[in-house]
Amino acid sequence: MSVLVMKFGGTSVANPDRIRRAAKRVAREVANGHDVIVVVSAMSGKTNELVGLVNEISPLFDAREYDAVVSSGENVTAGLMALTLQEMDIPARSWQGWQVPVQTTSRHGAARILDIPTENINAKFAEGMKVAVVAGFQGVSPEGRITTLGRGGSDTTAVAFAAAFGAVRCDIYTDVDGVYTTDPRIESKARKLDRIAFEEMLELASLGAKVLQTRSVELAMRYKVKLRVLSSFEEYDENAGTLVCDEEEIVEQNVVAGVAYQRDEAKMTLISVADRPGIAAAIFGPLAEAGVNVDMIVQNISEEGRTDMTFSCPVDQVARAEKAMLEARESGEINFHDIVADKDVAKVSVVGIGMRSHAGVAAKMFEVLASEGINIKVITTSEIKISVLIDRKYMELAVQALHDAFELDKAA
Ligand code: ASP
Ligand code: MG
Repeated sequence: MSVLVMKFGGTSVANPDRIRRAAKRVAREVANGHDVIVVVSAMSGKTNELVGLVNEISPLFDAREYDAVVSSGENVTAGLMALTLQEMDIPARSWQGWQVPVQTTSRHGAARILDIPTENINAKFAEGMKVAVVAGFQGVSPEGRITTLGRGGSDTTAVAFAAAFGAVRCDIYTDVDGVYTTDPRIESKARKLDRIAFEEMLELASLGAKVLQTRSVELAMRYKVKLRVLSSFEEYDENAGTLVCDEEEIVEQNVVAGVAYQRDEAKMTLISVADRPGIAAAIFGPLAEAGVNVDMIVQNISEEGRTDMTFSCPVDQVARAEKAMLEARESGEINFHDIVADKDVAKVSVVGIGMRSHAGVAAKMFEVLASEGINIKVITTSEIKISVLIDRKYMELAVQALHDAFELDKAA
């Protein structure tokens, strides 16, 4: 029997009508001869509501109880989806994470899946169950406590099940009809991509294109899971959505696949730190310990043994970063004159595997920004990505200008 994984996001299961609509899609795949594993998110808004309740009761919450509370949204939809399928005479039952069991690390709130044993679900398929409805986002730790996989984690649940069961495909049903060259809310000429390579999707996901949880793309890439993103609101057809796949499966490809952005960044500079071996470790160690997600890093030229160190992080982590740096100075681990935060920056990136074999993408990007009068504050590059930090007020303009210049509205 071939197994198909279908994941429905929060907006696709937001109310009974939508659950019925999703169940009809499941029914069609059952009729196509698949055993189906349906992974569901909580109804839209539910997880935020639960997180809010936890914070109201206990701002410095015990993460194990946070997970006990916020994982519950998925339990509701799993049960409702199973009931809906039963009403349609399709043999279905729900599975909470611990029942499978989805074994995870003990890192509450951001657990990683260690293993998904297939025996329990396969035994039920063998008995005639047609659909296993799995509560996404949750698992169980070695200590037997309920864990969650981080916000957006149901995508990762879905891909992990597809890998574990050797599924023919993992379809992620959401409220957009696929992956776009950029955010259509910013650039109306954004074009839906029929295919995108795992590595490009990984960059776009981590750069803030919120269609898929980054971890799910990592897993899909590692286990070569065919991943498809499609809308649960549009009429279905075989070629709907965007297929995230191996680059070998993509024939025609633009050099640049997409433009991504991250709006709420901050640029922090430590003025005049000693330029000595170990200084980067002394700065970024404490920042990591404080939970600051440092992204770009630039060490400026040094003069008389002292230098400025600049890094970027999400704007809501500035206070935490400042505190960590002041404490490190207090304890004598590092020394600096001042710490300066620029909280009005955004990051804009162009991504494409074609950059590996095409020179000149960076130069073109910088020219485009220059011609719009946009000053670049920090630049970083990788093999398939170029990112710049700019003033936030120019972010939309930069995205539009780059989308235009690289002609992303046209297919290759
Ligand atoms: N319900 C969880 C969240 O909102 C997990 C998910 O939907 O993927 O983050
Ligand atoms: Mg999501």
